[in-house]
Amino acid sequence: MDTIWVLAEASGGKVASISLELLTRARELAGTVEAVVGGEGEPVAAELGAHGATTVHATGDLEGRLAGPAVASAIAAAVAGGAAPGAILFGTTYDGRDVAGRLSAKLGVPVITNIVELEQSDATLVGTEPVFGGTVNVSTRFSGPGTGLYLVRPKSFTAEQSGGAPAAVSALAVPELGATGAARVVDRYAEEATGPKLDEAGVVVSGGRGLGDAEKYSMIEDLARLLGGAAGASRAIVDAGWVPYSHQVGQTGKVVKPDVYVACGISGATQHMVGMKGSKHIIAINKDTEAPIFGIADLGVVGDVHKVLPKLIEALQARG
Ligand code: FAD
Repeated sequence: MDTIWVLAEASGGKVASISLELLTRARELAGTVEAVVGGEGEPVAAELGAHGATTVHATGDLEGRLAGPAVASAIAAAVAGGAAPGAILFGTTYDGRDVAGRLSAKLGVPVITNIVELEQSDATLVGTEPVFGGTVNVSTRFSGPGTGLYLVRPKSFTAEQSGGAPAAVSALAVPELGATGAARVVDRYAEEATGPKLDEAGVVVSGGRGLGDAEKYSMIEDLARLLGGAAGASRAIVDAGWVPYSHQVGQTGKVVKPDVYVACGISGATQHMVGMKGSKHIIAINKDTEAPIFGIADLGVVGDVHKVLPKLIEALQARG
């Protein structure tokens, strides 16, 4: 494939890790990789270039407008004006989905979603997507000509620098948006967080229904903090209201790939496992020897979390 565009999301001059992952994979698949940014290009040109983008097509300040309508319209106009990337890659994020969906309608092409692997075949990209809770993979490709749209799940690829020079910044004009441009972002709320982010942490300690009640989740937070990691959760305890959705690991939560994943009182439903089975080392604590999580664990502790976790926390605290 000649050219791939990647929607690069950035905040405060820092490019999101999903965008760097996509650039890394794109440069293995195409001769030219270019980024598209809803915002100013200069603050992110060096980081995008270092991950393989030669050009960043930037809309400039969106002045509080939502990224979705503005960026989708801008890309559609560029394509109508002759830009012809073979593929555009988006991360499965709020803005990625918003831009891809709107662009799909504007270009009249479908979006291939939920991708975990991308490969080149006969000058087109083939996406691999898990279905039925991750038990079956399907491969999908575009059979017609034109630009293909691909939505890729975070952590499908590992971001690596290419050592490239800063990307050249090129202006991407945003056409008149009409009513779709009326919405304005009036406030932003950043959840207070100490320690690493769940999807970027080297260690993730997650709790499930086996904890028994919401108060016991503090053991998960304590252990995560002592290990310098982040605290995660199964959907069961998110649905029960014990912890916010932002902690959820799995098919409908976050995908994590830490060096160490500790599953505490989690059975190992396929929908949970698709979100963490890529972890380098998996430790499971469960009182049921038949729990499916033991099937993918490198170290299985058959025991009661109310006995094992306090001991573990005590031992780590004693080490100082
Ligand atoms: P349970 O399955 O109830 O398991 C609790 C475990 O704790 C058991 O194995 C038990 O043996 C053990 N236990 C009990 N007491 C103790 C103790 N004292 N000490 C040690 N072990 C103990 N789930 C997700 O996690 N993430 C998702 O993103 C997700 N997406 C979904 C999407 C769809 C469309 C659907 C249908 C489901 C989804 N689920 C998801 C839900 C999933 O199917 C399971 O229901 C959920 O993962 C179960 O959570 P759990 O392991 O905490 O609870």
